[in-house]
Amino acid sequence: MIEELLSDDEALFREAVRDFVEKEIAPNAARWDEEGCYPRELLPRLGELGWLGAGFPEEVGGSGGSTAIYALLCRELARGSAGVALGIYVHTALACSAVRHLGSQAQRTRILPAALAGDSIGCWAYAEPGAGSDVSSVETHALRDRAGYVLDGRKLYITNAPFADFAVVVASTAPQRGLKGLSLFLVDRDNEGLTTGPPMKKLGMGASEMSEIVLDGCRVGFEDRLGKEGTGFIQALEVLTLGRIAAAALAVGLMEAALEAALGYTRDRVQFGRPLTEQQFVRFTLAEMATREEAAWRLTLHAARLADAGQAHDTAASMAKLFASQEATHVCERALHLCGAHGYMKDSPAQRFYRDCKVLEIGEGTSEIQREVIARSLGV
Ligand SMILES: Cc1cc2nc3c(=O)[nH]c(=O)nc-3n(C[C@H](O)[C@H](O)[C@H](O)COP(=O)(O)OP(=O)(O)OC[C@H]3O[C@@H](n4cnc5c(N)ncnc54)[C@H](O)[C@@H]3O)c2cc1C
Repeated sequence: MIEELLSDDEALFREAVRDFVEKEIAPNAARWDEEGCYPRELLPRLGELGWLGAGFPEEVGGSGGSTAIYALLCRELARGSAGVALGIYVHTALACSAVRHLGSQAQRTRILPAALAGDSIGCWAYAEPGAGSDVSSVETHALRDRAGYVLDGRKLYITNAPFADFAVVVASTAPQRGLKGLSLFLVDRDNEGLTTGPPMKKLGMGASEMSEIVLDGCRVGFEDRLGKEGTGFIQALEVLTLGRIAAAALAVGLMEAALEAALGYTRDRVQFGRPLTEQQFVRFTLAEMATREEAAWRLTLHAARLADAGQAHDTAASMAKLFASQEATHVCERALHLCGAHGYMKDSPAQRFYRDCKVLEIGEGTSEIQREVIARSLGV
């Protein structure tokens, strides 16, 4: 049903990405997950195809397109490997998007052409040991002096950090001002004051890599501050809205992959003298999984279309992210269940989808934070 919601160009784009994913990503997804290594060699290839620049204007090194095109990209990549899609969306929807929307012309020229070509990779460094859902708890501070700023603090759970070339860091320039004291900074990997910890081991998303980042007397210039001093929180919210659409699209891609795995297994598996797909419980479960995926995609595409029309879309993005991530958890669990013991085995894709999906309810604002955003839009 996805085609009927797409323009001809969008359908062609989707076909091209799907073809690439089926040849180059899906066959390697289990190995990358097992090895815990991000396939960095893919990034220049995706850059060359213009896909890392999807949704970014040509004048900053992008390939044009729209948020809807970007959501399609995230969905199709996640169908092949959610871990690969996670690394790409952190790089594009968070790090590059922050530079695009908040950066000066000089910062855009410095960062984006190489980043959208896949020659340099970014990470988004917000979370800290004491700051997760509560943004006002950020303790990393940026002390201003005549030459610029000195950053000190620890960032935790940072996707792409083990190999990223640059980080967009959320830090406080005025701790007494709470949220209104937060600012964003660009920090290069070769900055002497930045070190990364060993790769962190995760339940799922094995193909993506994460580590902590330590900022110790990390000196940056005024030209490295993104946007105005003290407006970092509001600016971060703008960036996170695209991230929420991307996270929802990832959830839809995972649901599609899980449904395909469950369909394949239950068609082939014969019990009680007939394929499982002839059992009403199995048929109904598959039907419900497909319905949940379809509804999640419609919410996701709706949020993307609002963004493309220049309309307010923060509530729509939160609804899409809340719904799609919850449904992905349900659909991936049902897929594993329908695959029985085979689904529980390490060589089954169903167990990977089951492990991969959970983080989509946690990162990019947990489900409770999305509910808060949605409730506020109701005036309560
Ligand atoms: C795989 C993965 C990748 C990540 N990548 C990045 C990254 O690249 N960059 C980055 O900055 N961060 C990243 N994160 C961290 C992410 O930003 C945080 O996990 C997220 O902000 C939630 O914070 P927390 O995990 O500390 O949960 P907490 O804030 O400690 O919340 C714990 C629980 O309490 C609930 N809760 C909290 N406050 C409330 C409330 N007021 N009302 C009701 N319930 C509440 C939450 O919903 C949650 O269920 C990543 C995390 C994971 C798991």
